[in-house]
Amino acid sequence: MKITFLGTGTSTGVPEIGCKCEVCTSTDPRDSRLRSSALVQDGNTTLLIDCGPDFRIQILRADVKKIDALLMTHKHYDHLVGIDDLRPFTHNREMPIYADRETEMQIRSMFPYCFGRIKYPGVANIRINSIDHNSTYRVGDIDVTPFRVFHGMFPITAYRFGKLAYITDMSYIEPGELEKLAGVEVLVINALRFSKPHHTHQTVLEALQIIDHVKPRAAYFTHMMHHIGLHAKIEKCLPSNVHLAYDGLEVEI
Ligand SMILES: [Zn+2]
Ligand SMILES: [Zn+2]
Ligand SMILES: [Zn+2]
Repeated sequence: MKITFLGTGTSTGVPEIGCKCEVCTSTDPRDSRLRSSALVQDGNTTLLIDCGPDFRIQILRADVKKIDALLMTHKHYDHLVGIDDLRPFTHNREMPIYADRETEMQIRSMFPYCFGRIKYPGVANIRINSIDHNSTYRVGDIDVTPFRVFHGMFPITAYRFGKLAYITDMSYIEPGELEKLAGVEVLVINALRFSKPHHTHQTVLEALQIIDHVKPRAAYFTHMMHHIGLHAKIEKCLPSNVHLAYDGLEVEI
């Protein structure tokens, strides 16, 4: 199994528009972060996690010819507004989108022309599969197990794929859900900035506590803002099995 990071930035992306800080003006390509999204591939199956405003450029860069399904984490703009650009992947087939009820309602209200009996010609051919947080779904060659985390007050979805787990936009996880991460070898987890708390996103210091509990072989941060600091500098401050992900990074599991 392989995960490819298509984007590792927070909702504004990095550089942030108008900012001249050392991260936003860095020439290290690892400091440029499109909005968070990833591909999980195994056997003949390619799954996309989230589909934000940078989806088109991300998928052109990754040179992907086929996407079997989209897995949604939650309903925010930076995770779903690229759904219309799924059209090239749905010319000959319907694409399933796995989403919780809240996210499903948002997709239906943002893209009403993709649903209903009489569709506008040429629209993305998508179908929403409602998920719950206590089931495992077989999607092509991959077992997908959604679980629940909190984004501030608001429950959202994270995913486990065997020994890989992907969590974004989390500020809190309940102990019962945390136990679902037992045995994960590669953990992708969000970290907005180093230590200053935020009401809906965890920091590096908070994410390190979760990593310490799960004890994966390797952990990768995603959904980072420019205040996280320079990639090269922060990477040196982290435990040897913990890394900042960067756009284009591929990790084999
Ligand atoms: Zn986000
Ligand atoms: Zn900046
Ligand atoms: Zn969010």
